[in-house]
Amino acid sequence: MKLNEIYKTQAISKFPVISFEVFPPQNGFEKLDSELDLLKKYNPALISVTSTSAATNFEQNLLVQNIQNTLQVPVMPHLTCMRNTKHDVEEYLTVLNDAQTCCILALRGDYPTDGTTPCSDFKYANELVEFIKSKSNISIGVAGYPEGHIESASIKDDINNLKKKIDAGADVIYTQLFFDDEKFFRYTELVEDAGINVPIIAGIMPILSYKQIKKMTTLANISVPANISDKIEQYKDDADSMREFGIETAVSQCRKLIDSGICGLHFYTLNKAYSVSKILDNIL
Ligand code: FAD
Repeated sequence: MKLNEIYKTQAISKFPVISFEVFPPQNGFEKLDSELDLLKKYNPALISVTSTSAATNFEQNLLVQNIQNTLQVPVMPHLTCMRNTKHDVEEYLTVLNDAQTCCILALRGDYPTDGTTPCSDFKYANELVEFIKSKSNISIGVAGYPEGHIESASIKDDINNLKKKIDAGADVIYTQLFFDDEKFFRYTELVEDAGINVPIIAGIMPILSYKQIKKMTTLANISVPANISDKIEQYKDDADSMREFGIETAVSQCRKLIDSGICGLHFYTLNKAYSVSKILDNIL
């Protein structure tokens, strides 16, 4: 099934399509399998698997096929320009085609911080999308940034670059996490004004711990409204209250997005199902 077909179901059900993101674990699949067991009852339409420097395409694909076979759910591996040459991409597309994997998330990736040299066949994600499109008919997702990508001069500039990815053949936009819903709504308007007419899927990351949320928001320069950042400081040393607050925050964010008619909610699970399952218990 193509990505845009997956999201067409929302037009019928009027409820957002639910998807999850996981990463390849370093110590075998057992723990992740039990987390996915908890999440499968929410009938995800899609599960995406990140690309990390700790896993090769081969290892990532083992997880992709494991999930595809056990849960019978479409799986979307992420693929980055930073970690792949043209040859690597062609090889991976053949593997995905053989396994009937329906879609891929095409990304530039972040510059390595461990001193390794990134691959240089593709400079930006739009070049990767164009290449994939020329070699295969796999459906392609791309990343979007409700507050603009951290390297871009302005949000408009970033949306012009987003348009290059869509013009190159991408079908769906998955956003970075955000906490300022108004910025997200403004972003969707700007994207539409730019003539982009594909589904925009909201990326939801539950607050799990002080360390996690500080790292994520600092790295990508994500605004945290005062009512949320005050509580994050208040629960700094109280893990249980932080986790409960994270669930509460995500539930109210999801409700607002659902009321706005959002097409899909993509949950960054961080391989921990508990909070996401509680959020879904509240919104479904
Ligand atoms: P691009 O779209 O290439 O944009 C990067 C920057 O360059 C932006 O500032 C953009 O405005 C600018 N730009 C883009 N095209 C052009 C152009 N043609 N000319 C000039 N400037 C241009 N990272 C991982 O390593 N692994 C993952 O699995 C992963 N998954 C992600 C999933 C989602 C949903 C999101 C939102 C991000 C994910 N990332 C992942 C992070 C992502 O790789 C980084 O944010 C990266 O810095 C940018 O990737 P991109 O694909 O958005 O890049």
